[in-house]
This record gives sequence, C-alpha cells and structure tokens, in this order.
Amino acid sequence: MAFLPITVDEACARGWDQLDIIFVSGDAYIDHPAFGVPLLARWLESFGFRVGIIPQPDWRSKESFMVLGQPRLFFAVSAGAMDSMVAHYTPARKLRHDDAYTPGNRHGARPNRATIIYTSRLKEAYRDVPVVIGGLEASLRRFAHYDFWEDKVRRSILLDAKADLLLYGMAERAMLEVAQRMRKGERMSDIRDVRGTALIGSKPESITCLELPSYEAVAQSKERFADAFRLAYLEQNPWSARTLLQPYGNRWLVCNPPALPLSQPEMDAVYALPFEKAPHPSYPEQIPAWEQIKTSITSHRGCFGGCAFCAITMHQGKTIQSRSEASILSEIDGLAGKAWFRGSISDIGGPTANMYGLACGNPEAMKACLRESCIFPDICRNLQTGDKRAAALLQAARKRSGVKHIAVSSGVRYDLMELQPGYFRELVGHHVSGLLKIAPEHLAKHVTDLMRKPDKRAFERFLLRFRDESAKLGKRQSIVPYLISGHPGCSLSDMLELALTLKRMGIKVEQVQDFTPTPGTISSCMFHTGIDPLTGKRAYAAKSDREKGLQKSLLLWHQPTERAKIMEALKELGRLNEVGLLLGERSGQSEPAAKPKIPQEAYRRAEHGKKNRVATTKKTR
Ligand code: SF4
Repeated sequence: MAFLPITVDEACARGWDQLDIIFVSGDAYIDHPAFGVPLLARWLESFGFRVGIIPQPDWRSKESFMVLGQPRLFFAVSAGAMDSMVAHYTPARKLRHDDAYTPGNRHGARPNRATIIYTSRLKEAYRDVPVVIGGLEASLRRFAHYDFWEDKVRRSILLDAKADLLLYGMAERAMLEVAQRMRKGERMSDIRDVRGTALIGSKPESITCLELPSYEAVAQSKERFADAFRLAYLEQNPWSARTLLQPYGNRWLVCNPPALPLSQPEMDAVYALPFEKAPHPSYPEQIPAWEQIKTSITSHRGCFGGCAFCAITMHQGKTIQSRSEASILSEIDGLAGKAWFRGSISDIGGPTANMYGLACGNPEAMKACLRESCIFPDICRNLQTGDKRAAALLQAARKRSGVKHIAVSSGVRYDLMELQPGYFRELVGHHVSGLLKIAPEHLAKHVTDLMRKPDKRAFERFLLRFRDESAKLGKRQSIVPYLISGHPGCSLSDMLELALTLKRMGIKVEQVQDFTPTPGTISSCMFHTGIDPLTGKRAYAAKSDREKGLQKSLLLWHQPTERAKIMEALKELGRLNEVGLLLGERSGQSEPAAKPKIPQEAYRRAEHGKKNRVATTKKTR
C-alpha cells in the first residue's frame, strides 16, 4: 500500500506504530500534488516523518479524530482546497447541494467553518497535543477579516479555533521547519519565529514590527478596517515584510513575514514525490475534483497579476515559481503510462498560464517592491516577459509519446500576451479546443481599474488578434469571456453598458459569476467598507440580492428566462426605449456583430469545465 495511511491497519502495514504528524482534511484523500494536504504530507514523508491523513472525519464526535491515535508531534488541520463557507454557499448565501471534493459529489461531508470545528474536536480528544491550522481557509482569515456569510468582521481564525499555530501561504517551508524543530525537542509553544506562521502571544519586544489597528477598532470602523487591510497587504514581499501585530484586548496576533518562494529545484523535488496520482482506493464513488484534474499539469505557482477579487496573490505570492521543463515532461510521461489515459491533457498551466517561466529582472528592486501587480496599471519595466520558455514547453509537451492533444484551460492574461507573440501562436494554433476561456471580468474602465484588470481596449485588441490568427490558420474557434457581476464599482447602468458592448462584439456569455466577497481580497474589503484600501477612493458596492440578480441578468440578455428581470432593470434605469438594442436582433452600432460559429462539442466542453471548476493549487480564473 503506497498511499499514506488513513487507518491504523494501513499504518501498521508500513511498520509504523505511531505517527509523527496527522493531517485532518475537509477533502477526500486524493494523492496528487494539486491538493495541498497530500502535497504537504508527501513532502514531510520525504524528510523521514511518519504521516497519516484523516480525510473528512465525522465532526459530530471526537472518536473520528482518534482513528489514527495520538501523533508524536502534532495535528495539522485544513478545511480543504476551498474555504468551507465558499464550498457550502452560493453568492446568494443559499446552500449548495454538491461538493466536488467528496466521493459521489455529495454535500455535507464537512462542517461550516471546518478549521474551527476540527480543531475543537481534536482538543477535546487530545487536550495537550499541539494543533497547527493551514490551507486557504486559515491562511486568508489570519487577521481580523470581513465574513460575508455573517456580514460582520470576525476575529483572526486563530482565536476562534484555539489552535497553537497558523501556517499561511504555501506551507512547505514553514511546515518542515516546525516539524524538524519539534523532532529535535523544541515545544511548539516555543516556536515563535518561523516565516509563514502566525500565533497568539505577547507583544514581541525588540524586532521591527508593524502594528495594525486592533480588532476592536476594525470591527467598529470601516475606515480603520481599510487601513488595516492596506498595511497588511503591503507587507507581503517576503524579502522586505515586517512582522505584523494585531491587538485583541490584551492579547496579540503575531504574524511573521511570509516564507521565501521555492526555487526551481525545490519545485521539481515537490512534484517528483511519489504520489499515487489517484483517490484513495477505499472510495467507491467518483470524486468530481479528481475527474477534473486527473489529466491536468501544474507548471508553476504564484501570480503577479494582482487581480483585486482573487486570493492567489495573498496565498501563493507574487513570485512565479516554475518547474523545469524536464520535471513537467516527466509528469506527462507518467500520465501517458496510465492505463486510463486516452491522450488528452486538459491543462498545462498555473494561476495564470502565460506567466510560466517569468520573473522580475531586477533582484534589488524586487526585494524592495511594494507594487501590488507587475502588470497593472502598466507592465513594469523590470518584468521579464519573454515567452521562449512557455512556448518551448508547449512544443515539447505535444511531442511526448502517447499525447494526442493538450488544452490550456488555466486563465491567461491577454494584456501580458501582447508581449508574447510566440506563446500566443502556440496557444491559438494548438491548444484552444474550439473555445479559449479568458477573463476580462468587466469592460468599464472605472470597474476594471478597481479590479486591477486591463481595460476594454486591451480586450478588443486581443479579440481582433485572436480572430485574425484563427482565420489565418483556418480554425473555427472563439473565446468564452468570464465576467463578474456585482463587483464593487459596478452599477446597474455599468452592467447594461457591458451587455450592449458584448452584443456589439458578437459575444454571448452563458455563465456570469456573481461576485462573492471571499475573505482576504481587496474586493472584499471594498465590498465591506466602500473604500478601495490601496487608493483610499470610495467605491459603490451593490449589496441587495435584487440588484445583484438584475446585474447578472443583464449579461444573460439572450436567455429567454432572464427577460422579466431585464425589463425590470431597464425600467429602473429609465432606459426602456433601449429594449430593442439589447433584446432585438440588431446591435444598433457599427461594430461588426460577427457571431462566431462555434463547434457545439467545443462549447459543451468549455461549459462543462466552467460548471465543474474546482480550486486546486492552481486556478482557472
Ligand atoms: S520591480 Fe516590477 S517586475 Fe519586479 S517585482 Fe516589482 S513590479 Fe514586479
């Protein structure tokens, strides 16, 4: 049995009478590096630690948390690949009925606020055993944060979970250092200085620290909340960040600077770990998240785009950490050797596919850099944008034995791609599968500025280039734009303008993402406070379900089910006279409404991918 043990029998089969570290996870156990818990567990195993996993325990009793006994060092808790509240509720706060990380796609295998509940059960079962918390839920809730589901500012999750230590970001370095120091005999309560960790304690005496406004202050004042957010956000550069402090009454949250990024050899070493690349054999049913990523390859982590609604920068960091081409090709060869592999790779990418291999070209500037994005509002002159590595990777991957087709389904930044003609040609010529998913998210400048996204002109340039290149190649392919409704800064009138613009461009969207203020993003801060925390400018935010619903419907103007809401929106805007422009056959403008002919099979595939999108260590938006 090469899977890590999830039962005592499996641990005994390895000759292990006690485990060193036991992970508790809100997800099913899929032994693949796309998922954080198995990745960290395998990483620790490679350093000689005995590691087990308790996936999706029944949180109603402590016994489910005792199935592997007491660990010698500590428990490590993660809610799973997604925040448990995001996993459970729609943007309208309605309960979801599925869960892509659970066998059979069943809802209900994890509790709300899983990190807190799991830690509490562990402390009931083993009062004196240390518990560390990590993963996206803990990472993005490490400071006092706005919680959309309760519509209030909550304390750091460390205080509510009563855990001993919080690991934030990608935690290989922090987890290993903590485990190694404890193996040498240090107590967790004495480990206070590890990068990438946060803890509750007394105020440090000497080191250079930055004090954030207190929890009490940010809970009472939106201006103070925006101040605290800005101060913490600007302290993410691992080379220059200070230790952050946030007072809670007479206690202090102490957040050490972020861990340093992994080097390419370290990334290669992580992905060379002996993953089984399969769900644990005890699962009788399919797991949708596995079906989606089983033929997907992660080429890198990190994103320097700085999109305001995205948590990747806060979690993975701005530095691109790329694997070598050899490491990626070796993974492809392993995939091609699987009996079930049919020759199609569903993705080679990361948070943003065309950032593979890119880096800041000025190490000194990088170490002091406070820019939230390397490409917004313009492309930094220090950024190396060469596309040779990314293009060569796609070329080499296509030539591997057993590979018939490779799609790139990770998001791409089309403004960056203007400087990457080689990658653009590879992408459009070989990797689109009929439809290319791109994410303008909006086209009104004052909204895209708040989102830190390129504006309409960049989108139009890309669309022209894409259509030209596809025509030259004789390919019938088009783009699927991902758009967000209800984002801060966006009014009903902005949404109508966006709908009319898309209609003039001959673009219909099938799905629109209703903005969800997930913890830890700039956009969530704007939603709560009405302030852009980095510029101090005021930003309108649609908050009622009615307005959010109307905004979304406007973009779906071509769907008969949305007509009543569209009429309601036009009436509210006093623009009923424009009903023909939006709902009629004509676009009413001179821009060509060249509705592309899209192969139906390609469309079905793209839509299926969107509906079943899962969060892993990369993203598709
Ligand atoms: S100096 Fe420029 S390229 Fe380098 S990290 Fe900062 S924004 Fe990015």
